[in-house]
Amino acid sequence: MLPIAIHADRAFTPFEEISDAVVVIQGSKISAVGQRGKVAMPRGAREMSARGKTIVPGFVDVHIHGAGGRDVMEGTPEALEIIAATVAAHGTTSMVATTVTASEMETCRSIADIAKFILDAGLSPARELAAEILGIHFEGPFISNARRGVHPAEWIAAPSPPLLLRFLDEARGTAQILTLAPELPGALELIAIAREAGLLVSLGHTDANHEQAQAAIMAGARHAAHVFNAMRPFSHRDTGVLGAIFNSPDVSAELIADGIHVDSTAMRMLLDLKTPQRVILVSDGTSATGMPDGKFQLGTFQVMVKEGICRNAEGKLAGSTLTLDRALRNIVALGVPLASALQMLTANPARQIGLGSRKGVLTPGADADLVFLDANLEVSGVMTRGAGLAMYS
Ligand SMILES: [Zn+2]
Repeated sequence: MLPIAIHADRAFTPFEEISDAVVVIQGSKISAVGQRGKVAMPRGAREMSARGKTIVPGFVDVHIHGAGGRDVMEGTPEALEIIAATVAAHGTTSMVATTVTASEMETCRSIADIAKFILDAGLSPARELAAEILGIHFEGPFISNARRGVHPAEWIAAPSPPLLLRFLDEARGTAQILTLAPELPGALELIAIAREAGLLVSLGHTDANHEQAQAAIMAGARHAAHVFNAMRPFSHRDTGVLGAIFNSPDVSAELIADGIHVDSTAMRMLLDLKTPQRVILVSDGTSATGMPDGKFQLGTFQVMVKEGICRNAEGKLAGSTLTLDRALRNIVALGVPLASALQMLTANPARQIGLGSRKGVLTPGADADLVFLDANLEVSGVMTRGAGLAMYS
């Protein structure tokens, strides 16, 4: 395949801003990035112009349940392809398929089906212009009943090594994140098993006090699911899990930046406390993402979407319809520099799941996952792994 050299007004690696940029693609990889004139052009390179655009790394979503009317727990190639294609149009080129609390049978079936999809080597044309599903995020069932949000109470489980081992077995090496409540008896043992299996352990749906959360961090927890949501609230004399997250530089913090889950003051506080290097923007997107208002499925239960806000029958927030391009614009609207905002949805999530050299960066050797942004930070083009280049405007 001939190399492609794409010229754009600027690029963000995301750490560095390059004006008058060139990104060279060879096959599915980036082979060079730099300023025009400073990058050696490979022989026979096909040149492309993306005038007026900014090239940034494709977004990496580590907490997403569905999109385009489909839920990851359906597990069928059709459902996963629709989800992956829907989010790709919004700049998400990699995602970690996220389960919700369900029965053991349902969860295991979903995990096995998602794993099969990931491990099926053949790249069908339907997967070309679609996000790559990098792995699986287990959100539940080892969570707090008091902070379960919309996770069904009947399927919440006490930390159980045999159950986690069964999930890992079904996942066949594709498990990436385990979100659990660290205050539950047996949680620390589960953290040890998950760490041993190479998973990122995430504190979430938790009523943990400071000591309990601290113990989990000591045991290897390094991430926190949708910070502020489904967590014991912060108090100056009972700082709880949030106090531990704020005070632990090694712990990354997910943020649902839709302006509904967390208000702008709390978003600013989180950005100040954790710094842009440790915040990870996630969608927590449900099947309702990219769809008109109506009734949708989240895992095994129904949610209602009105004016883009997703709730269960009792009116509790149930995930979102957020896409990461909108999250980016919302964060920039808070006054955060674009380079910092971009890190939160590219390099940071990729690094936390151990894929920092392959995903979320524009560097030689990384996957050619590119997003083309216009002057309003709207997605005007996407390239996934060197293929499926689609320009929308
Ligand atoms: Zn959740």
